[in-house]
Amino acid sequence: MNLSKIIICILISFAGFSQNQLSGRIFLTDTDYDYHYITVLLKKKDSILTGSQIDSLGNYKLVKKIPSGNYKVVINHLGEKDMIIENIIVDEKDLVIDINYPGPCTYFKNKPRKCVGSHTDNIIPIVYGLPSKIMIKKAKKGKIHLGGCEVSKCDPYFFCKTHNIEL
Ligand SMILES: [Zn+2]
Repeated sequence: MNLSKIIICILISFAGFSQNQLSGRIFLTDTDYDYHYITVLLKKKDSILTGSQIDSLGNYKLVKKIPSGNYKVVINHLGEKDMIIENIIVDEKDLVIDINYPGPCTYFKNKPRKCVGSHTDNIIPIVYGLPSKIMIKKAKKGKIHLGGCEVSKCDPYFFCKTHNIEL
C-alpha cells in the first residue's frame, strides 16, 4: 500500500467519525399515500437542518454533522398536513427511527375496518404469501383474497368484494 492510499483511508475514517446519521424506514399505513411524494426533514425550532427523500421501500437517511440537541422530525407528503415527531434527542451517536405514516397502523387481524355504509357482508380475509393450489381454488371461489408476497409492518387483513377495497 502506498502512502496516498493510507492518507485517503485516514481521511475517510475521520469523516466517518465526525458525522452522525439519522436513518430509518417509513411504513405506510394508508395505501393512498405514495413513497414518491414523501420527504423527511430534521428541524430545530423552525429551521431545517437537513432533509431527505425516501427510496421506493421507504428508507431514508439524513447524514450530517448534527450537533447534540432536541430536534423534531417532520414527514412531509405533497399536498398533506405535515406529521411532526417532537423531542428527538440527538447526541453524537447514530439514530434509527422507524415511523408509521400517516398514523398508527389501523388494520386489525380480528376485525375489519368499517366499509362504505358499515356493511358487514361480502368481506373476506386476505391471505399473504406464495399461493398454494388450495389457496388459488379458494380465491377463485371468492372465499379469500390473495394479498401477494410483499408484507410490511402494516397490512390489511380483510377485503370487501362489493367495493373492491382492502379493510
Ligand atoms: Zn364494502
